[in-house]
Amino acid sequence: MTLPAMKEFPWWCGDCGRQEIRPASEPYRIEARHDGELHVIDVPELRAPKCAACGNIVFGREEDEQVNTAIRERFGLLPPEEIRRRREALGIGRPDLAARLDVDEETLLRWESGALIQSTASDRLLRLCFDVPEARAYLGITEAGLRRADSAGAA
Ligand SMILES: [Zn+2]
Repeated sequence: MTLPAMKEFPWWCGDCGRQEIRPASEPYRIEARHDGELHVIDVPELRAPKCAACGNIVFGREEDEQVNTAIRERFGLLPPEEIRRRREALGIGRPDLAARLDVDEETLLRWESGALIQSTASDRLLRLCFDVPEARAYLGITEAGLRRADSAGAA
């Protein structure tokens, strides 16, 4: 089922009440929180519907993801698809990696789906796990997959 009124530009603007919202692409600056601090983030080309009359920009999932991508690039964080790809390349299931990193499985799922941006510290932990065999050994993760500890708390 389609909703033509929602699809066809120009849209009505909820801010100024004019029918002036059309696709736009332009540099965009936003203040975003990362690791508990506000940062000014520049998105080089934000593609988003914008009101030509008042400048109102309509944000949805795709627009949020463009901002999140800019935040990840700014802080050098792994993109969601790379977290998933590198985990799968190691042959580790999501529940197993979450347990080894001592993070909630839901949290890891949200990092991999892009719903949540990992902290810089968590990003370093993921990179250590992915890049350094000794780190994986320390965490009990073998190249062939996960080596399950015989007893909880063994280190
Ligand atoms: Zn407007």
